[in-house]
Amino acid sequence: SSPSTPIRATLFPGDGIGPEIAESVKQVFQLAEVPIEWEEHYVGDQIDPRTQSFLTWESLESVRRNGVGLKGPMATPIGKGHRSLNLTLRKELNLFANVRPCYSLPGYKTRYDDVNLITIRENTEGEYSGLEHQVVRGVVESLKIITRQASLRVAEYAFHYAKAHGRERVSAIHKANIMQKTDGLFLKCCREVAEKYPEIVYEEVVIDNCCMMLVKNPALFDVLVMPNLYGDIISDLCAGLIGGLGLTPSLNIGEGGIALAEAVHGSAPDIAGKNMANPTALLLSAVSMLRHLELHDKADRIQNAILKTIAEGKYRTGDLGGSASTTDFTKAICGHL
Ligand code: NAD
Repeated sequence: SSPSTPIRATLFPGDGIGPEIAESVKQVFQLAEVPIEWEEHYVGDQIDPRTQSFLTWESLESVRRNGVGLKGPMATPIGKGHRSLNLTLRKELNLFANVRPCYSLPGYKTRYDDVNLITIRENTEGEYSGLEHQVVRGVVESLKIITRQASLRVAEYAFHYAKAHGRERVSAIHKANIMQKTDGLFLKCCREVAEKYPEIVYEEVVIDNCCMMLVKNPALFDVLVMPNLYGDIISDLCAGLIGGLGLTPSLNIGEGGIALAEAVHGSAPDIAGKNMANPTALLLSAVSMLRHLELHDKADRIQNAILKTIAEGKYRTGDLGGSASTTDFTKAICGHL
């Protein structure tokens, strides 16, 4: 698109604190004159038979058509006969990789000042294939599926990401000493891809050792790529290193270049509607969406304004030990813009 035609992007404000933090993103984007026109979609109150979920077919079509979107947290309604909202999005849009940058926020003191790593999680298989059954009474079985195709796809994405972002090292995280076939295949695929990127250092780290190294010295890591369940756990561990779920953004990458950014936290029902939520995670997710669209100037401006607001420390939300409301914090960011 030329700079004068706005880019259309799908926005799911989501549930709970979702609409409050989505409002914050809309305000900041408007002030920064980001050339994006939001197409808002809401989770329905009935199951759409075409998706077997509360997400409508039209919502999914919107992301497919626009190729980019931003998603607030969604609370999965309880009850039978429907698919989880997040699982529906992942499966229907083939969101095969979840990319989560974790870096120390200057001015917000945690145990470490030098975290700067990226976790890349395989998002479609592993222990998440949903294939569980009872063999006999008292014995159940869950199938962990690892395929060459999905492993190569996520490994390829990780190395491509590392190269495009001037990163030096990719660590494949595994437990292939025990899961010889499944994690073994995952590693084999990573090695194959690594050969095509001689300029990037490749290493393999066993998951238990990886956890120990991460909490002792997170600066040891650069880009980490791993199967689904390990990615789920390690990426939350990394969020903890920099100050918690209110701060960490993520970007889901799908087939055909689809990118759906989302905050990793949930709908926070305990503080929903109280103007207390920290919009940083969703804002930084929106920033990674801008980077995906190569709108780096806008992304830098907004990211700097967020970081300045947090570093200044005058307006911080409750999760960061402050008492600012969502709207005050947003106003402070707008002030820095
Ligand atoms: P949660 O992340 O919603 O909340 C955990 C704790 O963190 C709460 O105390 C909450 O107040 C706090 N918190 C989370 N985000 C915050 C923010 N931006 N600012 C300040 N504090 C924040 O996890 P939960 O309570 O386990 O889940 C609640 C609902 O969210 C459930 O229905 C769950 O299914 C859903 N969920 C959705 C997603 C998603 O859409 N990706 C992810 C996780 C959970």
